[in-house]
Amino acid sequence: MKIIVTGGAGFIGSAVVRQAIGAGHEVVNLDALTYAACLDNVASVADSPSYAFEHVDIRDRAALDRVFDTHQPDAVMHLAAESHVDRSIDGPGTFIETNILGTFHLLEAARAYWVKAGKPDSFRFHHISTDEVYGSLGETGQFTEDTPYDPRSPYSASKAGSDHLVRAWHETYGLPVVLTNCSNNYGPFHFPEKLIPVVILNALAGKPIPVYGKGENVRDWLFVEDHADALLTVLQRGALGRSYNIGGENEARNIDIVRSICAILDRKRPKDAPYTDQISFVTDRPGHDLRYAIDPTRIREELGWRPSVTLDQGLERTVDWYLGNEDWWRALQSREGVGERLGVKG
Ligand code: NAD
Repeated sequence: MKIIVTGGAGFIGSAVVRQAIGAGHEVVNLDALTYAACLDNVASVADSPSYAFEHVDIRDRAALDRVFDTHQPDAVMHLAAESHVDRSIDGPGTFIETNILGTFHLLEAARAYWVKAGKPDSFRFHHISTDEVYGSLGETGQFTEDTPYDPRSPYSASKAGSDHLVRAWHETYGLPVVLTNCSNNYGPFHFPEKLIPVVILNALAGKPIPVYGKGENVRDWLFVEDHADALLTVLQRGALGRSYNIGGENEARNIDIVRSICAILDRKRPKDAPYTDQISFVTDRPGHDLRYAIDPTRIREELGWRPSVTLDQGLERTVDWYLGNEDWWRALQSREGVGERLGVKG
């Protein structure tokens, strides 16, 4: 397939780009290169004849039309988004513009291209979203694809809005779409403002390791390479108009994730005191959702997909990657806002 991947210079998008090219697909990486992007993430495939890059903002309809006309794709995998909840609290405007308006422009550009091509059923618009659209769980229960939407942050509300648009373009115009909502990703190339890289890098730097509240928030951790594999599975075999929840089957409290990373570093980079001594509990994020958990029954039973990596294996691989790729993360640490406490202005 020839696939336009939006946001392919970001964390998850770049994993999709690398894996899609490895699987023999052609990829057009369409990215505006915001603060969260890093083209080094796709350096391993950038010289491939199957790879092209388009420096385009999804809010620019004319540029999107040109990309569709030039590349004539079989599918779009839409990952471009503003993705950091803390930044959405300080400045929600860009989240509305990119995640909602940008998705609208991309849908319209895809629809115009698809109509011109004679409305082929084989075309796919794959929208990648988050489990955060479902809101927050108590101590029990799991999100299914039928859980009512209840977003609680500007980020999750903007993603919920984009999900509704994609469904509406399927129901109203017949655009062949599939949707996925996944849990928290982690792994190589994770931007150094998110929890797991922050823990690793602050630990190594001898700085306090910030834990919001009491660290009791629970997430279902999904290794990014597993997620990319699930996305390519849904793209190729998912039923039209259908949503699939993708989880890691790895629920853990934030404080336990932090302790596990400290224990791995105690083994790999031992020093006089245990890394857990650096843990520092800080004021919680406003409206911090307590627990997310995915019921993966649909993707498992309909598409036979399951994650391959346990949390212990994934954390070990992630820590190894950060230890071996210091040039990559050092270059990103000077970007605006990285290393600061964000999301408390509200
Ligand atoms: P990221 O922030 O690492 O990357 C986002 C990419 O999108 C960047 O390369 C950025 O330059 C690009 N982008 C942003 N605005 C753009 C615009 N207006 N036009 C074109 N490109 C633009 O994000 P990520 O963590 O890789 O997440 C990818 C997708 O997966 C997002 O849609 C996100 O909502 C979703 N998601 C992420 C997670 C997670 O744990 N990271 C969980 C669930 C869902």
